[in-house]
Amino acid sequence: MQIKEIDKTYVANTYDRYDPVFVSGKGSLVYDDTGKAYIDLAAGIAVNCFGIADDAWIKAVTEQLGKLQHLCNKYYTAPQAILAQKLCERTGMKKAFFANSGAEANECLIKVARKYGHEHHGADCSNIITLKNSFHGRTMATLTACGQDSMHTDFGPFVPGFLYADANDFASVEALADDSVCGVLMEMVQGEGGVNALDADFVQAVAALCKKKDILLLVDEVQTGNGRTGKLYAYMHFGVQPDVVSTAKGIGGGLPLGVCMMGEKTADTLTAGTHGSTFGGNPVCCAGAVNILDRLDDALLSDVTRKGDFIRRELLSCKGVAGVSGMGLMIGVSLTDKKAADVAHACLDAGVMVMTAKDKIRILPALNIPDELLSKAIDIMKGIIEA
Ligand SMILES: *Cc1c(COP(=O)(O)O)cnc(C)c1O
Repeated sequence: MQIKEIDKTYVANTYDRYDPVFVSGKGSLVYDDTGKAYIDLAAGIAVNCFGIADDAWIKAVTEQLGKLQHLCNKYYTAPQAILAQKLCERTGMKKAFFANSGAEANECLIKVARKYGHEHHGADCSNIITLKNSFHGRTMATLTACGQDSMHTDFGPFVPGFLYADANDFASVEALADDSVCGVLMEMVQGEGGVNALDADFVQAVAALCKKKDILLLVDEVQTGNGRTGKLYAYMHFGVQPDVVSTAKGIGGGLPLGVCMMGEKTADTLTAGTHGSTFGGNPVCCAGAVNILDRLDDALLSDVTRKGDFIRRELLSCKGVAGVSGMGLMIGVSLTDKKAADVAHACLDAGVMVMTAKDKIRILPALNIPDELLSKAIDIMKGIIEA
């Protein structure tokens, strides 16, 4: 059987896959099994920060792989400790817990918020406010946390303790923020929800309310983090300091790694035995992440901003584009007439990989995509949108 038939026969039907079968790549170029090349503007959903088969990352990963691939988390290993130190030093957070995915990082964040609420404000303080249209993962708790009704069918009963406010509507958060609430969870740019950045006024007002009421400010940086928006973490654009930050996707550079970072208030909330993971903080994933994090320096971050501005400028001058949203290299494109899904299919046929988010095209290239490839891909995309 051909790969596509085998996949259709034996792999669960959870993904509506595109047609090509991909076999290899280098940087921002990916090749299918016919040898056709594609320019990658998706980076595996903001995962492959430095593209495919990046030499320095492969070296870091394979060196660790040859030394020690895994041990139980009851033992010390260097890559996890060093990664935690570097993350804390660059964010002002105090401690890191390592998981394997974004959803798991958010599970940890939810546990921290509830335990903090219980310890400081009593057993009834366990509700978490999230925003409508948000996305936080697909485990039962994180799925419940998502503020999207479409995700809340068929899988009930749901995990209690989530309240939904409207993004950019401070009054709707304030109205829910009673003594039962231990945290407010937000993405600074809603990714799956359509690449919509929150207003700075709104984020700052929520942060001030949280501070006043000792409610934890919880920021989901799974997609926005690790240089994607032109800062190391997107909250850094907003002048706020969260109490808990979750991240995943880009931090591992392509290996599964999630992180939940705790700030001053919550550094000691989790104690021995209250949380854990078999694979979380695996030495190989962490060695790769240390390499990624070290390269997310000021020069790289300002280049992300420059490339994002270039894409924005190009697309705003394109007939058929109604608007461009997002920050840095996390970009949503709304169209006047065409359907985003149709444009994504046509782009793929023309050798450019893009994603969609709701009714927008979503662009999330590798942070180091070469300028020539980027402008070639944007030209192809513009041609399709204008046609
Ligand atoms: C992708 C994503 C998640 C879930 O991450 P997984 O690794 O798929 O579990 C959670 N939150 C946000 C904002 C995401 O974009």
